[in-house]
Amino acid sequence: MKPMGPIPPDYAGQDRLTIAGHDAEYWVEQAGSTPCFVYDMAAMERRVARLRAALPDRVGVHFAIKANPYPPLVSAMAALVDGLDVASGGEMALALRSKPGGEISFAGPGKRDAELEAAIRSGVTLNLESAGEAERALAIGEQLGVAPRLAVRVNPDFELRGSGMKMGGRASPFGVDAAEVPALVRHILARGGDWRGFHIFAGSQSLDTQAIIETQAATLALAERLGEEAGATPPFVNLGGGFGIPYFPGDTPVDVEAIGAALGEALDVSSLANRKTGFAVELGRWLVGEAGVYLTRILDRKVSQGETFLVVDGGLHHQLAASGNFGTVVRRNYPVALPMRMDAVAEEAVSVVGCLCTPLDRLADKVALPKAQPGDLIAIFLAGAYGLTASPSAFLGHGPARECLPRAAETT
Ligand SMILES: *Cc1c(COP(=O)(O)O)cnc(C)c1O
Repeated sequence: MKPMGPIPPDYAGQDRLTIAGHDAEYWVEQAGSTPCFVYDMAAMERRVARLRAALPDRVGVHFAIKANPYPPLVSAMAALVDGLDVASGGEMALALRSKPGGEISFAGPGKRDAELEAAIRSGVTLNLESAGEAERALAIGEQLGVAPRLAVRVNPDFELRGSGMKMGGRASPFGVDAAEVPALVRHILARGGDWRGFHIFAGSQSLDTQAIIETQAATLALAERLGEEAGATPPFVNLGGGFGIPYFPGDTPVDVEAIGAALGEALDVSSLANRKTGFAVELGRWLVGEAGVYLTRILDRKVSQGETFLVVDGGLHHQLAASGNFGTVVRRNYPVALPMRMDAVAEEAVSVVGCLCTPLDRLADKVALPKAQPGDLIAIFLAGAYGLTASPSAFLGHGPARECLPRAAETT
């Protein structure tokens, strides 16, 4: 038997999984079939409200839509947050359906000229990833007769300690090395660009509250120093995010109240806070990850050499991360349950495997579950971020999963 991660607090302790007042079979019916993702809008609203209460008033909340670009979810989140952060022309077009360009920022290396042009035409802020990209954006702005909104993404000289994905303190395709930033800012201003400040994102999926606090303080200090060296006050500083969620046994949640309090103290002593600099954090996973459940139905139950397998109609083509093949070194179990019988006693060890013809497609490895039969549903939690769109959904041709968003009750 192997342990599994914690069921999110929104659903732990329920006798049957209930989302927006209805059980899992109801949501499968709404979605049309299994496998499907159910995104719990009320759970996301609770996250946004908690974060806003924790953060200083002057720090806005942005949603990084690559965590979950399901269109109804993006439009619902857009109404709750101050900005949307996008990472492609496709995401930008989606974001522009719900927010004005002035509330959207576009990061990511390798932006095409057509993407730069579309952003500049829409007044989207470009988070510049290199000096070369700055030149292209300035040239396109001159052609269009528009001052492009340009923020400089900084490759900081530190990293977010304890984060699953490190994005600072080393050679990087992301951002401009801190030492080169002041000259680039002066150049943008000299060329008539509308300089929007800095974007500093030091890592992702950190559960280390103290490390996040230190990183935010270091980020603020770096923005202050780079502004001084450039001889200009940044109009805006995007402080990044990186707040993780507990996926695995022993993981504990981040303390956002402690982070907010510490950020308030850091801002109180920052020289930027006395000027007209705006601030935001940008989060994807923390806002939506725990609010998604992947529902899949058992097709077969078999025993091989003493191990019981529950074969389901979903798999890693929708929920790659749960199979341990998305950025993890050691395969560990996401929380799973029988959603119609959450309160039943776990009486056997089973492996839940997907329908793909590859041994990689293992969604739960030797976990304890109540006895389940073909026809029963399996719920895999923590499916709200980096699920469907971060999985190889064309692999093996089973087709995409359905998605639905209880509250709005929209389905695709
Ligand atoms: C992916 C990404 C995010 C969101 O990261 P999470 O870990 O999902 O919060 C935020 N900002 C940038 C620049 C990103 O690339």
